[in-house]
Amino acid sequence: MAWDRRNDSRLIPSFEGELAAYLTLAFECDIKIILPALYYSACKAPLVDTLTALNSVHRATNKDIYTSFFLGRDRLRHAESQCSLSFLFCRFYCPGSQCDVEERMRSARSEALQRSTARGSGEGETYVDWCVARTNLIGAHHEFCPACCKFIEGTFEDGRKVVWRELPEFFGLPGWEALKKEALDDPSIVK
Ligand SMILES: [Zn+2]
Repeated sequence: MAWDRRNDSRLIPSFEGELAAYLTLAFECDIKIILPALYYSACKAPLVDTLTALNSVHRATNKDIYTSFFLGRDRLRHAESQCSLSFLFCRFYCPGSQCDVEERMRSARSEALQRSTARGSGEGETYVDWCVARTNLIGAHHEFCPACCKFIEGTFEDGRKVVWRELPEFFGLPGWEALKKEALDDPSIVK
C-alpha cells in the first residue's frame, strides 16, 4: 500500500507552500492520480493552512476545489471514526491473560467520549485523530500488554487499508484502478 511507502518513496524534500504547488500542478497538468494523497494531506494539516493553500490553488486554476475538499474531509472523518469505533467495541482476549481487557476497553471508551470533539474550526486533535496518527501507540497508551498492543495496531492498520482503498471516491475521483489506468495511458506522463 502506498501509505506504507510514504517515507521511503519521497523524492522531493518538503518545502513551504508545497500543498498549493502540488495541487496546482495536479490540476494544471491533469494528473489526477496524485490528488487523493494531496487531499489526504490537506485534511491532516491545520485548517487555516489548508484554506490558504486552497485559496492559492483557486486563484491559479479558477477551479472550485473547496466542494471536493470539504465533502471528502467529512467522508474521511466518518471512515476514520468507524475504524476507531470498531476497535472500541471489538471483543478480544489477552493471549497471556495479563490484561483486564473489559476494564481497559471501558477506560478507552470513556477517553474516546471525552475527546470526541475538536476545538473550534476543526482544530485540535480528537481521540480518533490521535489514534489514526499513532496506531503503534494506542495499545500501550491504554496499558495493554505487547501481544494485545500488536492486535490493536493490526485492527487500525486493517481499517486504514479500507480507508485508503476508498480515498479517491471520498473526494469525487474515480477509484485507484481507474486513476492508475488514466495515468499510464497519458502520454504526457513520463513512465
Ligand atoms: Zn494483553
